[in-house]
Amino acid sequence: MKKTYLCRLGSEIQALVEDIERRSGIEICVETDDSRVGRNVGEPDPLACVIDESEARLLVPSSTELSDGPVLHELLHIHRFLVEGVPQISVCEDRWTPHLEQVFAQLDNNLEHLVIVPLEIQRIPERHGLWVKKFRRVLSQVRDGKLPKADQKFLAIYGRFFVDYVLKDTTLLELSESILDTLGLQSEAEVFRQKIFSALSSKEAAIRVVVDLFKLDPSLICLDYLNPRRRSCEQKSLH
Ligand SMILES: [Zn+2]
Repeated sequence: MKKTYLCRLGSEIQALVEDIERRSGIEICVETDDSRVGRNVGEPDPLACVIDESEARLLVPSSTELSDGPVLHELLHIHRFLVEGVPQISVCEDRWTPHLEQVFAQLDNNLEHLVIVPLEIQRIPERHGLWVKKFRRVLSQVRDGKLPKADQKFLAIYGRFFVDYVLKDTTLLELSESILDTLGLQSEAEVFRQKIFSALSSKEAAIRVVVDLFKLDPSLICLDYLNPRRRSCEQKSLH
């Protein structure tokens, strides 16, 4: 990462950047992305990252604002894929459509968050409040029926686990329970809770839990294993 950006971060985050770069052999580049400004009213502009076998780009809403919390979140994503070798969900090449790519990217992100957000909150406890705010917004949208049906079902079930296991927030848990009651999804949410909990240490296992419960077509799903040292990506099908 260029010194001009690195020096704006705290020493622990700087050390994490350097550790990821050393272990992956890839420099983390910071890029300004104006489209990230004003995405969610009342919430900080979100960062994002683009990761493949030969690059890691951190997309920031403004080059003048760079703070530890949001950067840590993206670094944890990068660490999983480029250092730990955790696979990313992708659409198998012969089945690719832009819509599926978007759906699977979102699913991948949600599964990753079950692992990285607890680490993020452990390192920077103030991040907890931000995630509570985010899930209050998401669950309110689910309750008000403002989302497509498939998203509503996934987010009701996933959201229940997230607010309980990751956020441990009783107010959001009550909201979540009432959504599940209204939608008649309590028993499916319980199956998800039990299965995903024991699958969190394996991305492949976690994906299978989602595929089974939400009846996704496994032939659409591939897993990308990035090897930054060799600049290669090995794609394997799920089934
Ligand atoms: Zn994320």
